[in-house]
Amino acid sequence: MLGVKAPAVRNFGVSQRQTLVSCGVDHVNKLPEPFVHRNVANLVLHNDFSCLSVLQYAIEVLGIEHVIVCGHYGCGGVTAAWEQRSLGLVDNWLQPIRDIAHLYREPLFRLPGDEQRIDRLCELNVLFQARRVCRTTIVQQAWDSGKSLTVHAWVYRLGDGLLRDLGFCASDGESAEGDFARAAGVGTIGDEDARHSPTA
Ligand SMILES: [Zn+2]
Repeated sequence: MLGVKAPAVRNFGVSQRQTLVSCGVDHVNKLPEPFVHRNVANLVLHNDFSCLSVLQYAIEVLGIEHVIVCGHYGCGGVTAAWEQRSLGLVDNWLQPIRDIAHLYREPLFRLPGDEQRIDRLCELNVLFQARRVCRTTIVQQAWDSGKSLTVHAWVYRLGDGLLRDLGFCASDGESAEGDFARAAGVGTIGDEDARHSPTA
């Protein structure tokens, strides 16, 4: 687990140009020249052409080498999904997070309280989205062509200003699946669920 003060990310040694898929964060503007796409609850959906276009442009035109999916603890979208609160149209957008919550209900309910469950759901959501980035045709084609491209999953907490690396650092399809399995604790959910984990 890596924790650095958010401003220190300038010294992270990552490319000057990055793509961040993030949610409601002012901090990320302090990163060195990030190329940022944001939406509610930092979701990466394979039919979201806004998100896909940002990815394609950043990777194929700008030539970035690092994609960072950055979420945050206390995310309102994740909290609403966990609490199954109805907020209107946005409920449809948040449905993938409800699916993750359902899939991980057993390990989540083993945690002591809702605060910890929502924190973990925030982490799981970032991990699922990072894996989705890896499964886009854009990233798959970049890797197939031998391009250097790494996808990261980070989460931060406004309260302590710490940015945490979730242990997902994928530079090819195999490492994406392996890192996801380790970081998302695939072994902690039922085999049946694992075979049908939500990917859309
Ligand atoms: Zn959020």
